[in-house]
Amino acid sequence: MRLGSGGPARAAVPLLVGLAAVGVGYGLSVGLPSYIVYLGTSAIVAAIAILGLGVVTGSAGMIALCQLTFAAVGAWVVSGLNLINAPGGFVGWLVAGGLAAGAVGVVVGLPALRLRGVNLAVVTLGLAAAADLALVQTQFPGSTSGTFVTRPDAFSDDRGYFFLAVLVLVVCAVLVYFLQLGRWGSGWRSVAFSERATASVGASVSVSKLTAFAVSATLGGVSGGLVAGQVGLVFAASFTPIQSLALYVLAIMSGAHLIDMAVLGGILWVVVPELLKRWGIPQDWGFVVFGVLGVQALTSGSNLGTALRELWWRRSRGTASMTLQGAAPELAAAPVAPRASGGRPVLTVSGLSVTFGEVKALRGVDLEVAEHAVVGLIGPNGAGKSTMVDAISGFLPQAEGTITLDGQSLAGHSPARRARRGLRRTFQQNRVPPSLTVEAYLRFVARRRLSPTEIADVLDFFGCPPAHTRLATVEAGTRRLVEVVGQLLSRPRVLLLDEPAAGLSHEEHVAFGERLRQVPDRFGVSVLLIEHDLDLVRSVCDTITVLDFGEVLASGPQQEVLANPAVLKAYMGETEML
Ligand code: ADP
Ligand code: MG
Repeated sequence: MRLGSGGPARAAVPLLVGLAAVGVGYGLSVGLPSYIVYLGTSAIVAAIAILGLGVVTGSAGMIALCQLTFAAVGAWVVSGLNLINAPGGFVGWLVAGGLAAGAVGVVVGLPALRLRGVNLAVVTLGLAAAADLALVQTQFPGSTSGTFVTRPDAFSDDRGYFFLAVLVLVVCAVLVYFLQLGRWGSGWRSVAFSERATASVGASVSVSKLTAFAVSATLGGVSGGLVAGQVGLVFAASFTPIQSLALYVLAIMSGAHLIDMAVLGGILWVVVPELLKRWGIPQDWGFVVFGVLGVQALTSGSNLGTALRELWWRRSRGTASMTLQGAAPELAAAPVAPRASGGRPVLTVSGLSVTFGEVKALRGVDLEVAEHAVVGLIGPNGAGKSTMVDAISGFLPQAEGTITLDGQSLAGHSPARRARRGLRRTFQQNRVPPSLTVEAYLRFVARRRLSPTEIADVLDFFGCPPAHTRLATVEAGTRRLVEVVGQLLSRPRVLLLDEPAAGLSHEEHVAFGERLRQVPDRFGVSVLLIEHDLDLVRSVCDTITVLDFGEVLASGPQQEVLANPAVLKAYMGETEML
């Protein structure tokens, strides 16, 4: 687990909060009226299940409507182990129930590797319905014989059991907190925002999705196991599909990837039906209330937790933008240092062709990027530049031609595999997940151990906001620079930059160019730069390739190419060159 700057101090905070929560929980367990204590246990059990939904839905962005099916697995295992009086005692059974549910979660997650959105929702809801039918038929172990689940001795009365539930919740919450901070957590948020961007940093989309399902289902299982201990005799009525749906709604409207919001969701789960009961309204109307709140949350595209936090961040810190000005003094106004242009080729592309239906986006394109060179790729809109980057980075399996990295063919390599071999890229569209901090994002993209000073240095070099800044508060143009920084920190062999300076002012463009010129020597990387600003191209690129209608119009040293009449005519318009 890497916690980055101030690691130990930052790690202490959630542990202290957890300890405080245990203290408060103990106080409540002895101080509250016994009826409220019983309801409180239900709220905690629900909070654990919602915490799990926060991972799969809130963080990883997948719709899973079978959380209580996982809970039923946990309850089934606990009551089964209780029936045979298995060793380990209640807490051991609870862990076993969680793990069993986690394993089921991985199986349920497999369709999620192919399905998205509504289709995944239908599959998971279908599963919940099927499991419900099966459970009603088969019954839970011990329910027909009337064998109550034995609670641990120290927590055998309702007050004690409430406190046990608090302890379990605190353990789960702290674990989830650290998982969210770590590589898995960044992976979850990255797949939620863009699967392509996730693959492009060499991370496995499948692993991210399956770990989210596994963690979520494990929490569901633990929650169900606690239900078994709470009620003693378990029945299918505690785990119906409609309850799974309502729980999902609570999770999205509260923003359950945030731990305090999951707890709030658990409280609402109990308070709403209880209030309805007191007002003499049938409790089933609770589902209607949750439904209305859920529709509201979905249509507004926001949730309570995120809205509250964004308000707080903006108030306290404002919007972060860059401070990219001027040039590093030693290089200011220096001409492009003519690098050994006969350097060994690192990336070679030959005969690259891509068709989209009728559109021939690329036709037999050749390109070479030499060691430590910055090669410009220019051409009018629609010329095929981004298609070229997509093809080289492995996102267009239909591409024809050969691509080699360090002399080895990349044929058949997935985007993630190419990224792991040192071929990295940025995207023309924003693919930086806003829910991460700059630091968490950089660590996720770099996929290697980074010291806080190393991070701070590179951020400073590109004039990016400090590591603790939330990407949600960073301006769009600056986010693209953060993306470049992350890719550079991965120490790639070749970096393909698709209009990295779009959205910057002309002065910032020039300042960015000054940095870019130092990139090959500073980071030991070769760069392919797609860029519209010719001043930037002139000041940075040794060689230039011009694309037009998917074909190479000219290629070679920049002076030659920029003076080529065909290039002037087709691309820039002659006046711009004067
Ligand atoms: P550039 O980046 O140079 O502006 P692109 O590579 O984005 O150009 O696009 C090249 C051509 O390929 C354009 O005609 C575009 O419409 C087409 N194209 C790009 N991507 C797709 C796609 N996924 N499906 C169909 N056509 C596409
Ligand atoms: Mg493009």
